[in-house]
Amino acid sequence: MLVKQKTEIRSVPSEREFASNLIMVGAIMLVIATGIAVAATWFTTRHYAPNIHFQALRTAALLPMVIVPLCTSIVGYQGIMNHRRMLKIFHLAHTDEMTGLANRRAFMQEARYRFETVDLEFHGLSFFIIDLDHFKNVNDAYGHEAGDEVLIHASQQIVQALPRDAMVARLGGEEFAVLLPYSDIEQIYQYAETIRHRVASKPCSYLEHSIQVSASVGVGIAHARDTVRSVMTRADDALYDAKDEGRNRFVIAA
Ligand code: GH3
Ligand code: MG
Ligand code: MG
Repeated sequence: MLVKQKTEIRSVPSEREFASNLIMVGAIMLVIATGIAVAATWFTTRHYAPNIHFQALRTAALLPMVIVPLCTSIVGYQGIMNHRRMLKIFHLAHTDEMTGLANRRAFMQEARYRFETVDLEFHGLSFFIIDLDHFKNVNDAYGHEAGDEVLIHASQQIVQALPRDAMVARLGGEEFAVLLPYSDIEQIYQYAETIRHRVASKPCSYLEHSIQVSASVGVGIAHARDTVRSVMTRADDALYDAKDEGRNRFVIAA
């Protein structure tokens, strides 16, 4: 089962936004068409002449009332279909296929977005980098397919350890990242420990095997003077400290 985590696509309007824009454009076009028809009807009523050309002109004046909604519906339908295709392509470009998590691109975009829009000292933001320990041994002992199952299982443990407003991504290989909208050290400590504990205490069932892994976690807390790169470098350094200190642990770089 894949982890279900919604990846926000900020640079493309949602289907609802797109449809409401379309309805608004359609409504404006209809008002304009109605205005033209009303003006033409008024004009032809005032300058009435009982001949066939005049009747034809009068009927033609009403045509926009039919043609505009029809064209708007056709163009709108095509637009919605194209928009759906674009959303699908966007989703594929921002999702890790194996785990269903956001991928590195989506993570970096979201991190940059938060840095640009959030008052970091007021709202808080922290970066976790999580790396499975001795993961190569899993592949060597059980095979690559088992390794994939363990990665999916670990990704689920990470998501379940965190609140809904955290963003979890797979950066690549057996490395994951978390964007947590808090800077409070107590909360960070708790979430880092919950991730570590869940990954280490819930083995993955694969065929007749129960595969146990652990994870090391490095955390960087973002400050106003930081850039995405500087805080991720701190988290990375903290991860290497956690590895050096024996793995299956977390290190927080304030
Ligand atoms: P460390 O504790 O130092 O992180 O050791 P490690 O073995 O986890 O790290 P290393 O970088 O030596 O090995 C990572 C392994 O992850 C090697 C690679 O085969 C495996 N790997 C990377 N991506 C995937 C994947 O998508 N599926 C599977 N099954 N294995 C992967
Ligand atoms: Mg590793
Ligand atoms: Mg690694």
